[in-house]
Amino acid sequence: MKPGASRQTLREPTRRTAVAGIAAAGGLILSSPLAPFAGSAKASTDPSFTEIAPGIFLRSGGQAEMDGENHGAIANIGFIVGETSVAVIDTGATDGQGAALRAAAEATGKPVSHVIATHVHPDHCFGHGAFADGFASGAIANIGHHRLPRALAERGGFYLERLAAIAPEGTEARFIAPSMLVDEVTTIDLGNRALRLTAWPAAHTDNDLTIHDLATDTFWASDLVFNGRIPVLDGSLTGWLSALDDISKSAPALLVPGHGEAGPPGPMVSRQRAYLEALAGGVRAAIAQGLSIDETVTRLADLGRGDWLLFDGSHGRNIVTAYTELEWE
Ligand SMILES: [Zn+2]
Repeated sequence: MKPGASRQTLREPTRRTAVAGIAAAGGLILSSPLAPFAGSAKASTDPSFTEIAPGIFLRSGGQAEMDGENHGAIANIGFIVGETSVAVIDTGATDGQGAALRAAAEATGKPVSHVIATHVHPDHCFGHGAFADGFASGAIANIGHHRLPRALAERGGFYLERLAAIAPEGTEARFIAPSMLVDEVTTIDLGNRALRLTAWPAAHTDNDLTIHDLATDTFWASDLVFNGRIPVLDGSLTGWLSALDDISKSAPALLVPGHGEAGPPGPMVSRQRAYLEALAGGVRAAIAQGLSIDETVTRLADLGRGDWLLFDGSHGRNIVTAYTELEWE
């Protein structure tokens, strides 16, 4: 999927604990990567989780900015069930959301063995506190991109302040940095169900991690792909376009975006690519003509307007982020 990234690497910087299901340094070999999933997932009892593919459960986030009504529950989070254990993908914005996710995951009758953070943003990985006991005992592997700990250290405090203002009473947001770090690509096993984890070069953020369920060919892109709401650029525009190329080439059967409905990747990826390419083209032209950042924001204010939900919440900032990247080309 990522050029030159066939080497499997998984680092464990803080301690070396025996963690069930972790296959380090090429230790997992499947007889057939597309073998049908043989396990049977007991349906979650929580109606907010939908089984979108065999053994893959999704809580869809609302298409909204984080506020006191939705308590930051705006991202897609969920879990994947193997024969022996469950991997959780993102934990939401608060301990309460993480706890609901954990309860739904454990209702399958199998233990949670892995919690995978897709990136630093507060709607995705600030419910990790609900799994703190499992992290401490070593029963649950806390996995993230190798640059996620640094991103959390730089931004975690700021995000907590934002979340404290919108978290419901009796719950809180916490962040717990991953202890199992993915450098490039690695595979974990949930019992006859392999998930390939890829740590991407800077794209949506500089710490994007994706999950590919080989049994169903489902690619959990998280915020590498936005469906419906406008993509938020917080990493590298050129890197993001390159990542979208790789996703298009791999052509998974089903794509789970960070926001919006899951579906076939084609329409989602091409729509997002069109916006990001237009953004890059418009910003490059403005830079070539000597326009300032402010002048560029004004010129491109309506680029893509009408195509996306929550447009005004992020488009202006996307222009600024793109400008500060592309002016050094
Ligand atoms: Zn994000």
